[in-house]
Amino acid sequence: MPDYQTVIGMEVHAQLLTRSKIFCGCDAAVFGAEPNTHVCPVCLALPGVLPVMNRRAIEQTIMVGLALNCQIAETAVFSRKNYFYPDLPKAYQISMYDFPLCQHGWIETDDPAGPEGAVRRIRIRRVHLEEETAKSFHVGDHSLVDFNRAGLPLIEIVTEPDIHTPEEARQYLIKLQTVLRYLDVSTADMEKGAMRCEPNVSIRPAGNAELGTKVEVKNLNSFRSVKLALDYELARQARALDAGDPIRQVTMGWDERRGRTVEQRTKETSEDYRYFPEPDLPPLNVSRAWVDRLRAALPELPDTRRDRFVADYGLARSEALVLSAGRDVADFFEAAVTAGQKMDLSPKTLSNWIVGELFRLLGAEGLGIG
Ligand code: ADP
Ligand code: ZN
Ligand code: MG
Repeated sequence: MPDYQTVIGMEVHAQLLTRSKIFCGCDAAVFGAEPNTHVCPVCLALPGVLPVMNRRAIEQTIMVGLALNCQIAETAVFSRKNYFYPDLPKAYQISMYDFPLCQHGWIETDDPAGPEGAVRRIRIRRVHLEEETAKSFHVGDHSLVDFNRAGLPLIEIVTEPDIHTPEEARQYLIKLQTVLRYLDVSTADMEKGAMRCEPNVSIRPAGNAELGTKVEVKNLNSFRSVKLALDYELARQARALDAGDPIRQVTMGWDERRGRTVEQRTKETSEDYRYFPEPDLPPLNVSRAWVDRLRAALPELPDTRRDRFVADYGLARSEALVLSAGRDVADFFEAAVTAGQKMDLSPKTLSNWIVGELFRLLGAEGLGIG
């Protein structure tokens, strides 16, 4: 049997944290609200309504693009992605297709296989802005739709196929979540659906230059299920190739209860969506001055903060990594360092205390640092 190399490319959707929805004035704080209370003629797609673009949603998308080292387009174009589904009130989704807002970036993750401090670079193909769909529920023989979520601003972040193990996939997702939270543009909470990921996965005989046929996996709502689904899918694909069966390009869903992937549909191609430029929104011209203002306002990002903790406070890289993994923890640590100066408590002592004793107490009480 040949050895196989794993190839994974990740598509992540994250809800942005704007005050109103992307094309209307509805309050975007919909989590936990009574169904169908955050709706209006625009996000219900009643006849005759028109979208009005939310400036903050564009700014937050650009901030993500900058944090991921992307080039920001001078002109981005909204497109209609046409498909029929009960949770899509207009029967099309306004998205970006051939002219996305951000492209050609990268993110670094710690290399789990390398020596301490080794990093891997994962290329980001694109970051674009689109609208969230509504949510369907199936109760007995009834289907119900809650439109509160319809029209929340959503970004999609797509990598190049640069991920090579399920563990690297997990590292990528954690790093991306950390960046989104540092930027304060998304809660990036997977359990609440604010961040959702769809890995595309294929295998190829080691040494083969050509990529294998990919399968896209949906319905993953925790880091744990991503790992389980990838492990399962990789084993399934290896068994198929070993048996001489070709892999078919399909979309699979993860069945959490049965611990397996299940074929949902054969993959639609972009032609099926009949994309065309959105006639109700003009092309978006993004001035360089606007981009520069947003760049100047970016907070210090996790990698920079980690390296500064090592340089300024003499922490080990592993400690600095833990303390910079959340902005709230990093802020707490730095406040403690400032306070500690008066009490002769060194950053090193404080770091030991936070990572050891304080985290243990918080863990025991099930509390966050906030
Ligand atoms: P689609 O049009 O089917 O969505 P794309 O080419 O846009 O496919 O790629 C979607 C995602 O799949 C990207 O993250 C990309 O890196 C990844 N990808 C593309 N080809 C492969 C492959 N052969 N194996 C694994 N991932 C792949
Ligand atoms: Zn609305
Ligand atoms: Mg896809």
